[in-house]
Amino acid sequence: MPTSQSLTHAMTQIETAALRLGLDAGNRRRILACDRSLIVSVPTAMDDGRLHVFTGYRVQHNNTLGPTKGGVRYHPDVTLEEVTALAMLMTWKCALMSLPYGGAKGGIPCDPRAMSRGELERMTRRYTSEIFLIIGPDVDILAPDLGTDEQVMAWIMDTYSMQRGVTVPGIVTGKPLLLGGSLGRREATGRGVYYVSVEAAKLLGLSLEGARVAIQGFGNVGRTVAQQLKQEGCRIVAVTGSRGGRYQSDGLDLDRLLATVNEGGRLEECPVGDRITNAELFGLPCDILVPAAVGGQITAANADRIRARILAEGANAPTTPEADAILRERGVLVIPDILANAGGVTASYFEWVQDLQFYFWTEREINLRLREIMSQAFRRVHAMAEEQKTDLRTAALMIAVKRVTDGQRLRGLYP
Ligand code: NAD
Repeated sequence: MPTSQSLTHAMTQIETAALRLGLDAGNRRRILACDRSLIVSVPTAMDDGRLHVFTGYRVQHNNTLGPTKGGVRYHPDVTLEEVTALAMLMTWKCALMSLPYGGAKGGIPCDPRAMSRGELERMTRRYTSEIFLIIGPDVDILAPDLGTDEQVMAWIMDTYSMQRGVTVPGIVTGKPLLLGGSLGRREATGRGVYYVSVEAAKLLGLSLEGARVAIQGFGNVGRTVAQQLKQEGCRIVAVTGSRGGRYQSDGLDLDRLLATVNEGGRLEECPVGDRITNAELFGLPCDILVPAAVGGQITAANADRIRARILAEGANAPTTPEADAILRERGVLVIPDILANAGGVTASYFEWVQDLQFYFWTEREINLRLREIMSQAFRRVHAMAEEQKTDLRTAALMIAVKRVTDGQRLRGLYP
């Protein structure tokens, strides 16, 4: 499913949540409108001597609850429409997690894999200086997304700092540790998925000792979830990457799989258990299923084969609305993406707080705080779902929309 389609689905879900909350048409329009959208041109000297003019976007959706925050995406498919929708999603994710932020997003349509580091650096620095007037550690904070990494964040931080004449680490999160990055941030999304899975298992009376876990995606998120749940006593029965993966009913040897992949080997060819396709993964008997790869994987075509009791959405928008309805009917407890993968933005918030204080926490402190915030959010969402007699996804969005609209009401309408 194309990203824009999944984002349209997400927008429809917001509308549903807003209607359930009884928001009138004016306020529904207000929460879907963006505070600011900036389009800039980014002239960049290419290595072959040509001048290429890229287009850059920065969209700040809603700053009711605090400065806006969101990633910068470098990908050929970036459009203003997509950046706008992603900025809105950030607003709801931050609001749900009770972070003092609104949502933002930025991006440049480009192919970073086809560019040299020098070209990327020049493009990044010019983009940063073009959006300089609307960003800042107490205005709008940037972060990595598709196609951007710690190095890109370091260039953004340096460019912003040079223009201000002081070092401002709080302008970006997801930067190198040496420049004010945070311990535990890289693993935070996977850890968050693990923490909410533990809460969901408690709710269902499911013992994690020996519980069967299947994971799609063996990247940053998938690996961390696998390691954490294994430590909890779960059997990781299947993991897949883009070309399939491995399956073993009594639990895979995770260390061997990790060693294979870390050494550049192919997951699906590692001689551990049996080979399995992505399609087969979704039909496996298991207790917890974690899609942690790409969006649109669980559809009307495969949802009725899913035999998991808990589906924890590590990826963004892995489940289509049609599949969601089927899973609901079949009694699968779906922990929605906006909650399940919010560990990443929560740890980014920790990074920003540490930067503002110039005081850094231990990894243990970070993980404890993350666990507390994720578990509390899960319990809040579950309580709302019970009260409203609805599913966790709708409940999560209702909490998020309610926080923003309550904030708007308290602040009043200026002038
Ligand atoms: P990653 O690039 O580290 O790993 C992605 C994994 O998915 C890889 O194992 C890859 O082989 C697999 N994959 C890619 N296409 C696939 C396909 N068509 N079928 C099956 N597997 C496929 O990415 P990540 O950081 O682990 O992120 C995974 C998901 O979680 C993404 O949807 C991302 O948007 C979401 N997410 C990540 C973070 C984060 O902090 N990393 C935060 C929030 C959400």
